[in-house]
Amino acid sequence: MNVTILGAGTAIPARDHSPAGLFVEAGGERLLFDAGPGTLQRLHAAGGSLFTLDRVFLTHYHLDHCLDLASLLFALRIPAPSPGAAPRWLRHLPRQAGESCPPRAPLAVYGPPGLKRLYRRLNRALNGWLTPRHYALRLKELKETSVKLGKGATVRARWMRHAAPALGYRLEAEGKRIAYSGDTDVCDALVELGRDTHLLILECSVPDERKVAGHLTPTECGRIAAAANCRHLALTHFYPVFKGYDIRGRVRRAFRGRLTLARDFTSFTL
Ligand SMILES: [Zn+2]
Ligand SMILES: [Zn+2]
Repeated sequence: MNVTILGAGTAIPARDHSPAGLFVEAGGERLLFDAGPGTLQRLHAAGGSLFTLDRVFLTHYHLDHCLDLASLLFALRIPAPSPGAAPRWLRHLPRQAGESCPPRAPLAVYGPPGLKRLYRRLNRALNGWLTPRHYALRLKELKETSVKLGKGATVRARWMRHAAPALGYRLEAEGKRIAYSGDTDVCDALVELGRDTHLLILECSVPDERKVAGHLTPTECGRIAAAANCRHLALTHFYPVFKGYDIRGRVRRAFRGRLTLARDFTSFTL
């Protein structure tokens, strides 16, 4: 299983900390968790491709987690280039009406209730340019449930505690377990989501002294990781307010396992 953090930041631009996005290759599928602004560009830079994504899981509909859904659906209207069929400079141009194009597998997009409304409104605001062409788009609104992937892999969704309805996700594939909090405050469901994971990816928005409801601090992340008994904790979603702050020291008061403070493109092989 390969996991790449495409954005380790928030809505506030910061060097090495772009809005939320997580690319996972597992169970023979390519998955995107969250799609903040710029995620498509960083997916490409990380060696992935929007044309071969199988599923997108959105945690919630704050802009720093979902805006590139529109970029993705717009880009997917342009048929995937078939290598060798056209000169390199022509491959990314749209085909003419009626021209055959290689079929793309359906794309499934998951998120909390409100996903279909979000899609409709975005598509209306963008004059219909998100309407799928050459592929099937499957929008699936989730509550607390499990989604079956290929090769016995599963993604489980749990409600988190945030300013907007938000899900956290746990992926089990190839004998490995990872969990991703999205945005959340401390809650029992988060500890359950991360229970005995090989990799737990938690948002860590603000310092202990600047606690904001609906988000986590370093000390809280350390306690959650310890309670969940994860092997490896990766922190992401850092606001620039952390500049010069000893995040690691705060986490270490409670958590003794492996610890990574993510930047854009931090990746893990499990
Ligand atoms: Zn956020
Ligand atoms: Zn949020």
